[in-house]
Parts: sequence; C-alpha cells; structure tokens
Amino acid sequence: MSNRIVAKFGGSSLADSDQFRKVKSIVLDNEKRKYVVPSAPGKRFSKDYKITDLLYLCHAHAQNEISFDDVFKHIEDRYIGLAKELEVKIDIKKHLDEVKKKIADGASADYTASRGEYLNGLILADYLEYEFIDASEVICFKNYGKVDLEATQKAIDEKLSGIERAVIPGFYGAKDDGTIKTFTRGGSDVTGAIIARCVGAELYENWTDVSGFLMADPNIVENPKPIEVVTYKELRELSYMGAKVLHEESIFPIRDVCIPINIRNTNKPEDKGTLIVDDNRPISYSGTITGIAGKKDFTVIAVQKMLLNSEQGFCRKLLSILESNGVSFENMPSGIDSVSLVIEDAQLGDKLDGILEEIKKQCNPDSLEVYPNMALISTVGRGMDRTKGISSKVFRGLAEGDVNIRMINQGSSEINITVGVENDDFEKALRGIYRAFAQ
Ligand code: ADP
Ligand code: ASP
Ligand code: MG
Repeated sequence: MSNRIVAKFGGSSLADSDQFRKVKSIVLDNEKRKYVVPSAPGKRFSKDYKITDLLYLCHAHAQNEISFDDVFKHIEDRYIGLAKELEVKIDIKKHLDEVKKKIADGASADYTASRGEYLNGLILADYLEYEFIDASEVICFKNYGKVDLEATQKAIDEKLSGIERAVIPGFYGAKDDGTIKTFTRGGSDVTGAIIARCVGAELYENWTDVSGFLMADPNIVENPKPIEVVTYKELRELSYMGAKVLHEESIFPIRDVCIPINIRNTNKPEDKGTLIVDDNRPISYSGTITGIAGKKDFTVIAVQKMLLNSEQGFCRKLLSILESNGVSFENMPSGIDSVSLVIEDAQLGDKLDGILEEIKKQCNPDSLEVYPNMALISTVGRGMDRTKGISSKVFRGLAEGDVNIRMINQGSSEINITVGVENDDFEKALRGIYRAFAQ
C-alpha cells in the first residue's frame, strides 16, 4: 500500500484566510497528505459570491462587450486579501492582471472559470510550501471532452516523479492542443479522484463543510444523521439523484482500483466523516436505508395501449422517437398496458409537442398523457431488496407527510426505490421518508 493520501478541499474550506489556516493544520497533521487539490474560494457567508460564479459572469460580460471591471474587482479583492493575510510570497496581482487581460481578449468560458482554482492553488502552494503543479499539465482531456486516463497517468508519472508534496488545482485540465477544459460544476471532486488513482493513493480525502454524507440534504431535513459507511454504488445513486456533496463522476476513476474515499469536515476535523468503500467489501447491513436524495423538474409521458407488452417493437419505436429528437430519458417504468417515459425538463426543452405528435403517429396509443412538474426521490440502501418492510415504510412516510405519489419505480435496481411526486411536494416528501426511517 502506498503511503499517500490525496486531500481535496472544497470552496467553503478555502473561502477566507481563517479557513486556509484550518486547511494547513489538517494537511500538516498527517504527513501522508502529500497531494492537495483545492477548489476556488467559495462563499464566506450565505449571501456571498462564489469566485467561480463571478468568473463565469466576467466571461459573459466580456462576450457581450459589457465592462466586467466591477465584477473582476470583487475577485481581485478576495485573492489580494488572502495573499496579504496569509503573507505569501507570490505576486498574485501580476497573475490577476494576466487573467483579466485574457478574459478581455476573448478567453473561453472554461479558461476563465478555471482561473478560480488556478489562482487559489498558487496561493495555497505558497502557504503550505508545497510545489505548485498546474492541472493543465497533468489532467488530460480527449478532444471530444472526456478525460484521457492513460495520457493523464503518463503525465502524472512524469510530472510528479521526484516531487514529494504538491498542490494541484481542481476542476480543469487541458486538451492535446493546450486548450483549457473544465469538468462540470463541482468538478474538483473528480480531479481529486483522478490524482488519487494515478498516484496509487491509499485514501482519497474530500474535505468539505459537513461531517460526511448525511442521510438527507441538510438544507431540507433538519439535522439528518450522518452516514458512517456507504458503498460506491449507493453513493453514486445518491449523488446522481442530487446529493451533491460529491460530484457524481468522482467514483469512476477509483472504483476499479478500490481506493476508499473519506468525506470530512474542515470545520470539525475531529469527526470521522463518511467512508465510501468498494461494493464488494463485506460491511454489515443495518437493516435500514442508507440515504434519501432527489431532484426536481421532470416531465412524465405516460403511454397506454392494451397489451403493449406483447406488441413487438413498441418500446423500440418509442425510444427511437426520443433518439431522433436528441433526448435521453431518466427511467422508463412499464406495465402490461402502459409505459411511461420520465424525462428531465432540461433535456426536453421545447421538443415536447413534436415528440407527442410522433408518438401518436408511430405508436398509435389508446391514450397519451403528460405529467409536468414532477420530482423524483430515491431511497437508497444496500440489501434493501432482501429486507422486508422497506418499501412499506417509504410509502407510509409519504402518506404521513401528506404526499401524493404520482409514480413508483421499484425493482430496476436492487438498491433503490424511486418515487415521483409533484415538484411542490418535494421537500415534504423528503422529510416524510426521512422521518419514517430516522426513528
Ligand atoms: P464543497 O464546496 O466542499 O465542494 P459542496 O457545497 O459541493 O461542498 O457540498 C457540500 C454541501 O452539500 C453541504 O454543505 C450540504 O449543503 C450539501 N448536501 C446536499 N445533500 C447532502 C447530504 N445528503 N449530505 C451532506 N451534505 C449534503
Ligand atoms: N469551483 C468549481 C465550482 O464552483 C469547482 C468545484 O468547486 O469543485 O463548480
Ligand atoms: Mg463540491
């Protein structure tokens, strides 16, 4: 086993100089914490701005030939304040001037957004006295936008050989031709996972502002219980379904090499946090669920036709209509005489009417109904397929929360039960299910 830990610190962990001080003491507390991946500075208080949001705004202003001086001034003030308070040696103003000029000269959105992590990385490396490695030199993207793991491994082997300790900014890398490419929002989590894989880390620590993965979103459910251990598979379901503590793609780089992830709280480093482990690791099953997560804004297209299960090619026709419209679906619960397509509104855009017309023409259904404004909620737990009473508890929780269930999708996965409810009932539904299991 290697004796290296990769430690990623999120935006709230690096929002101001006091947070930087906590980060330093965490990093220095364990000498295995050799590679540190920072995000851009996040919010210091609830009405504050995230640097990444401000950078996207600068880019949008520049594209529309609107002055971005005022917005950039906020960014400048934060980095200059950090550099001063932490007494670092680098000339951060020089770097800021360079970034501002590039944005004014038409730099891409990806380049612009990535500077949040880049500048923070420069300050953190100086403050920790670690080497700074630009992520554009080690995180390699293919030209069509996916990470090239092989090239990344090679670049990391070359760049990090002989470097004991380094800060590598999160969220971005570069394509073959040197153009900067970012991950989707929250993507520093993915950078940390890739670095952990490529240096063969024994552990990937993800430091944030909560003491691990909680059973439900703390912004909706009051004081949810922390989850001690969770498998990759459960975590993927939960983060895909909206529990954004960890970016949903963070699992892929490390799943096959079985590196555990530990979610920790920068503000409470004494808490153990959540350990995310390999699916095959024998962990005790508690007889209850692991967590609940959900997302709003789906549309359900419900197609009814007598005996459609025996009509060959029915679903193929239905799905090819989606395909020809460039729309993918979330799930597709079906029965003997009915099938429903659950589609994210962002996917559907203004294509709904066209799709309905084509379904009528090509599939000749007995009825076709549309349910807009739906939310999906997944209750996740390993072993739930083997435990009696889980689904009845989910439904009891919803009933006691006075929530009408519009759709049920059970059985497609052995580790989750998904229900569809009205968008307006989303929060009530989450609280209702949580209550049913938390007692
Ligand atoms: P970071 O800036 O460290 O990357 P994020 O904001 O991306 O942090 O993720 C942490 C936040 O995720 C928490 O502050 C919390 O509001 C939110 N969150 C949503 N669902 C959950 C959950 N199930 N458990 C813990 N946190 C959650
Ligand atoms: N700073 C980026 C964002 O706000 C990436 C990250 O924080 O992980 O999305
Ligand atoms: Mg995050």
